[in-house]
Amino acid sequence: MKRITRKEKRSKESKKNFFGEFIKVKEHFFKDLVKKLKEVKDCRNKGYIDYGVEVLLLMIILKNALGIKSMRDMTVQFNKSECMENMAKVLEVEKLEELPHYDTINDFLCKLENKEIEKIRDYMIKELLKKRCLEQHKYQGKYWIIAIDATSLFYFRERHCEHCLKKEFKDKETGEVIRTAYYHNVLEAKLIIGDMVFSIATEFIENEDENVSKQDCEQNAFKRLEEKLKSKFPRLPIVILGDSLYACEPVFKICEKNKWKFIFRFKEGSIKTVAAEFNKLKEYEKSLSVNTNHRHNKATIRAWGYKDERVNKKHKRNILKSIRVVSHANTNSRRHFKDKETHANTFAITTIF
Ligand SMILES: [Zn+2]
Repeated sequence: MKRITRKEKRSKESKKNFFGEFIKVKEHFFKDLVKKLKEVKDCRNKGYIDYGVEVLLLMIILKNALGIKSMRDMTVQFNKSECMENMAKVLEVEKLEELPHYDTINDFLCKLENKEIEKIRDYMIKELLKKRCLEQHKYQGKYWIIAIDATSLFYFRERHCEHCLKKEFKDKETGEVIRTAYYHNVLEAKLIIGDMVFSIATEFIENEDENVSKQDCEQNAFKRLEEKLKSKFPRLPIVILGDSLYACEPVFKICEKNKWKFIFRFKEGSIKTVAAEFNKLKEYEKSLSVNTNHRHNKATIRAWGYKDERVNKKHKRNILKSIRVVSHANTNSRRHFKDKETHANTFAITTIF
């Protein structure tokens, strides 16, 4: 495919009606969006309310959809009659006299509870799934791929709040604390749809208070995230993707309980029994020639089968033995894939097949 230059891209985009597209998407997929925005619980002082929650939230949604970086910039850019007419159209009102100042929006967002925003996201994800327009992105036509990983949100040199996670850096020789870092992390579950990702569940990793004996961590947050995911999407066929941190017994059990499939990175030494099984499977592979190659997106996954009295002779997917070990490379390069096969600490484990 011919690559287009930035100039060509700009000229192409200038002909596009982004707001028209926004309206189309909203009408097609999220007909009740404004209704849902109106249902968000407002914790502001009732005596000072000039704008409904739906106006404040729509401004933030549009700010982010349009890639406007700062709140100040948003107030400047939206404060035009054409923009206000468009906003009124989305909100299904006749006219908007004024738009709120960003201080008003910040004040509202500070008091807004996370679960209120999560309700909007749940509604949107459920609508997308209901429309069945994303089915072709299911893994093996069956499972929704959900990647789980933690990421850092904020970092401070001094304690910023009672929920901060804390890390002390010590002098190697004296053991004396030379620096303390305070930070906030979040664990995200993202639904992977082709080359797009949609946030489907969020769990903040933070301490209950300053004096906790054991800090909150990614594994603990995963247990809370799992409960959320399961209660919101109880029957969704899921395959969980995660790094080597998740390749451990408690997580396997959680996945098994929820009937979730999984693909996790595996690090040599983290679970020795699986490593032993992996090597055993490779031996079986040589004697059985039952390899199956599966291609999905850019990843190539090669599965090893092994002999078991429950193995269906016709084979392929009918292996009932639960544990399967695969070599998994995130690249198109076959050479790279081959190298990974022999590299013991880069294989992943899965129960997909
Ligand atoms: Zn904090």
